[in-house]
Amino acid sequence: MTSTTASTKPVAPALAVPNLSVASAALWLSLTVLLAALAYYFLGYDQGAVSVFGSDTHVHEFVHDARHFLGFPCH
Ligand SMILES: [Zn+2]
Repeated sequence: MTSTTASTKPVAPALAVPNLSVASAALWLSLTVLLAALAYYFLGYDQGAVSVFGSDTHVHEFVHDARHFLGFPCH
């Protein structure tokens, strides 16, 4: 009599990993860094002499509360 010993070891389910090429990953990383740098600039530093839009303070006023909330100096 032969006994079949079925393996009862649990098998981990396969994970769905996105198929990104190096060029695609580099493009996404570059765009993310660019967007983050723009957000960081407009939140933290766009005012006064270094303002991109000169004496127009619309961007500054739009992000004013977020600037104070994040602790950037303002006034
Ligand atoms: Zn302020």
